[in-house]
Amino acid sequence: MEINLVSDTVTKPSHEMLQQMFRAKVGDDVYKQDPTVNELEEAIADLFGMEAALFFPSGTMANQVAIKLHTNPGDQLICDKWAHVYNYEGGGASFNSGVSCCLLDGDRGMITAEQVEVAINPPDFYHSPLTSLVCIENTTNKGGGACYDIETLAAIKEVCSKHNLGYHLDGARLWNALVAKKQHPKQFGELFDTISVCLSKGLGAPVGSVLIGDKETMHRALRIRKILGGGMRQAGYLAAAGLYALQHNVGRLETDHKRAKQLGEVLQQCEWVEKVEPVETNVLIFSVKSQYSEAVVIEKLKQKSIFISGMGKGKLRIVTHLDYKEVMHQYVMESLSKLSF
Ligand SMILES: *Cc1c(COP(=O)(O)O)cnc(C)c1O
Repeated sequence: MEINLVSDTVTKPSHEMLQQMFRAKVGDDVYKQDPTVNELEEAIADLFGMEAALFFPSGTMANQVAIKLHTNPGDQLICDKWAHVYNYEGGGASFNSGVSCCLLDGDRGMITAEQVEVAINPPDFYHSPLTSLVCIENTTNKGGGACYDIETLAAIKEVCSKHNLGYHLDGARLWNALVAKKQHPKQFGELFDTISVCLSKGLGAPVGSVLIGDKETMHRALRIRKILGGGMRQAGYLAAAGLYALQHNVGRLETDHKRAKQLGEVLQQCEWVEKVEPVETNVLIFSVKSQYSEAVVIEKLKQKSIFISGMGKGKLRIVTHLDYKEVMHQYVMESLSKLSF
């Protein structure tokens, strides 16, 4: 039995999800004639109380289209220094949109309204790039699954409105935040201009992300998605997995969070662990004492068929998910507590 805790993207579709995919009614989505994609887009737009949504092959593409929608070449966006849009999208912000990133030194990937306000370049000071967009990540990936209070996001929104900036949410793991903080999608729909959500992480669909916004913005998004090669034909088979995931796999994220917390408690007791970051959702980040390298920990766990990832600088990451079951959890907790060097 292999236990893969490298990411929540490693899940495979369940039998039931596959059945729903098999049964999907499909059409050509490039002509907007796939009924299942249309159904998914409408369902997600409704859920967030926004006008329209668009299905994407990946979260990266959804974010990249959002950046393009809100900026012109030469502009600057503001995000945390650990943001996925800056660190893990292949340099796409500059490649696709010709924009630079003003990086803020946030707390576990989370930034504040005060930090944003200070980072905005005065629009009439033509020597500096024009600030046009703020990107938020919730939950934060590199920040260890931390999630924002609505009040903080509302305060940043005020700054964006005052300075006429776009406001985009990279909500790849927003579902986890909604469950952990008992928030409602409409609270986010009211604040942001665009929101991207992943169906292929905690929710367990094999492929797919969705970008949400108003009608006019999503109509423009359609063209940019086409330019990037993201127009898919009978994508309803994938959208069906997303619909299944929305109906069945949101509430259960609580279990992933509970298990991540328990793993954190076990690690806290381990002599070789330096620090465990606060666990709010399904991402657990911890560091090893300097005399034990992260590579050794990864190798020792690998020998027990447990796979986790290194983040550099002695930091390690564990992500719990749908395919991480209770028997595995018991085995991992025992293996971690017994790990010796
Ligand atoms: C996973 C992830 C994405 C998108 O990833 P894809 O693999 O392109 O779907 C975007 N933002 C964050 C924070 C993520 O964790």
